[in-house]
Amino acid sequence: MRPTRSAFSAGGMLPALCISLVAAAPATLAAQAKAAKPTPLEAGMDKLAQHPTVVAAFTALQSDNAWTLDQQASICQIPAPPFKEQARAAEYAKRFRDLGVQNVRIDKEGNVIGEIRGAKPGPTLMLAGHLDTVFPEGTDVRVKREGTKLIAPGIGDDCRGLAVVLSVARQVITQKIPFSGKLLVVGNVGEEGPGNLRGMRAIFGGPMRDSIDMFISVDGTGFGVTNGGVGSNRYRVHYKGPGGHSYGAFGMPNPMHAMGRAIAKIADLEASTTPKVTFNVGIVSGGTSVNSIPFEAIMEVDLRSETSVALAEIDARLQKALREAVTEEKARWPKSNAALTLVVDTMGLRPAGTTPDTTFIVRTSLAAARTMNVYAPLTISSTDANIPMNLRIPAVTLDGGGVGRGAHSLDESYDDRTDGYKGPQWVLLVVMGLLGAK
Ligand SMILES: [Zn+2]
Repeated sequence: MRPTRSAFSAGGMLPALCISLVAAAPATLAAQAKAAKPTPLEAGMDKLAQHPTVVAAFTALQSDNAWTLDQQASICQIPAPPFKEQARAAEYAKRFRDLGVQNVRIDKEGNVIGEIRGAKPGPTLMLAGHLDTVFPEGTDVRVKREGTKLIAPGIGDDCRGLAVVLSVARQVITQKIPFSGKLLVVGNVGEEGPGNLRGMRAIFGGPMRDSIDMFISVDGTGFGVTNGGVGSNRYRVHYKGPGGHSYGAFGMPNPMHAMGRAIAKIADLEASTTPKVTFNVGIVSGGTSVNSIPFEAIMEVDLRSETSVALAEIDARLQKALREAVTEEKARWPKSNAALTLVVDTMGLRPAGTTPDTTFIVRTSLAAARTMNVYAPLTISSTDANIPMNLRIPAVTLDGGGVGRGAHSLDESYDDRTDGYKGPQWVLLVVMGLLGAK
């Protein structure tokens, strides 16, 4: 999932350009390009885009765009509910092997991992799309095509990312683009809410962690660069008591009333806007009938922030409010000996993190967009990149081109329009730029 908040910065980048290999730039823009002096990094990306192997890759990505779309549609038709990504993972691994990706394996968590080795030693970059969807078993995942539009649950999020990773791997291998280091290509599990980033936690919590120098997730459509990871803490909160008849047992603490007190306190929490902090009670449930004191009241609470410090701070105030509600409800009925207890279950903890605008991975992503004459805003979101960002490993999430609508809904669509191929072209240029292709 990559529900983007509005772009807040373009990193000082102008939508200027020097060259465009596949679509001739309008004359006025071309004139501007000559006037704008590229930075050394931008000039390097322009040069890289003219390397014969990269030109060949770009040409193939455009002329064989149907291959990318076929991958996207066919992988999407294999259901991948949370924790049930196995069938899609097996097929994804097979496609990597068919392309000539080396050492393809599926780790204990269910992540598909393969390698493409460069000619010379150098950094290791992981390029990942996520296998899982938000849709439960039994969801109709057949893909409908209407012109350039593909319609199916998960078609954009993240079958687009999976297809882009396959297309990039295919071109790097078939065009023999010379690069240094190692490109790890991945289809990972557990990006969506219930998965709680379990795929990335397994990768970055295990021995691979020390060998990964940079990370890119391809998730979302368009051309955004996500370099801020919104952290979230999610809890299922239970207030419990013996319960009883609403008339006969009246005079004891009421778990639902305690929860009401807690919700009132949460509603009044002060939250900063810089960094942005949010809180939400999203679901409430409990009780058995209108004339029973409930034995249990349950709510689900979501806290988010762009920084770990701010998230920890709002979390501490939430926990205090939850406990105070128990104390106050008990105090309301001092003569009652009935128990009132609070149980807080953790549903998910996503760490916050940031890859600064000044890092090589962010600057390269923006420089590649400039070379391609596409505008790539910087955004903040919650994605697989949160995990490496939190570990201070340079990480971004890149969009995969095209136009997406209705992510997480049954009528989700992806429209390739006339230039969807620019998505994989951009990702390929970023990847090769980071791996020192010259
Ligand atoms: Zn996603």
